[in-house]
Amino acid sequence: MTPEGEALLLEAGRELGLDLSSALPRFAQLQRALLAGNAQLNLTALTSERDIILKHFIDSLTCGVDGWLPAGAQIVDLGTGAGFPTLPLAITRPDVRFLAVDATRKKIEYVGRTAAELQLHNVQVLAGRAETLGRSPEHRERYGRVVTRAVAALPILAELGLPLLEIGGLLIAQKGPLAGEELEAGASAAEVLGGEVFHVKHFELPVLQDARSLVVLRKVRATPPQYPRREGVPNKQPLF
Ligand code: SAM
Repeated sequence: MTPEGEALLLEAGRELGLDLSSALPRFAQLQRALLAGNAQLNLTALTSERDIILKHFIDSLTCGVDGWLPAGAQIVDLGTGAGFPTLPLAITRPDVRFLAVDATRKKIEYVGRTAAELQLHNVQVLAGRAETLGRSPEHRERYGRVVTRAVAALPILAELGLPLLEIGGLLIAQKGPLAGEELEAGASAAEVLGGEVFHVKHFELPVLQDARSLVVLRKVRATPPQYPRREGVPNKQPLF
């Protein structure tokens, strides 16, 4: 990472209330790993240092700054792709554990390798679909938190994520600008799946000031056994 990149990461971190100075070496390693991984796998279209820092690293960290991820929490990152938000959060939050899940095995293998290189002992990875996990007794209603970034519309996320949560658990969805219709549809889906909209925050990404939203759904009762529906159905036929 260039000195300008380091300064940008520190400045954007400060806007989030984070002091990232001791984390700089790991973020530099992560940037190198992402660019090296991208040469073989199609991990990200964002390859400039500025974009990686602001739109991947800082954007991921916005999921963790409002106290939604308490110390000791076991967090599932649904659809982690190239490890976002898991890897930036795991660097800054050694006190929480992450299970990074993605349907694409190659991406998950990259995330696992990168977590090992960065010695992030709080990261585990799992290749699989959320629908399958949500129906398996090993994972259903077992987690306190689900985070997800840039994976699907809210009604789909509700069906993929709420089944994994124990009652009282939270699904934290980081999204771009959020239309009222999507939020309404998400609220209706959450209701069917045993959840409710708990919190919505609209904010701007540090430095760039791009619009972002964080939607927090809370699990309030058991998810009916017919959900999640089989693989692919939540996407093809969203509940609302
Ligand atoms: N969260 C990452 C980020 O913010 O950069 C990746 C976003 S990428 C657009 C969406 C990812 O979600 C893809 O890697 C895809 O394989 C994964 N995905 C989509 N539906 C899924 C499902 N039902 N179960 C597991 N992974 C899924």
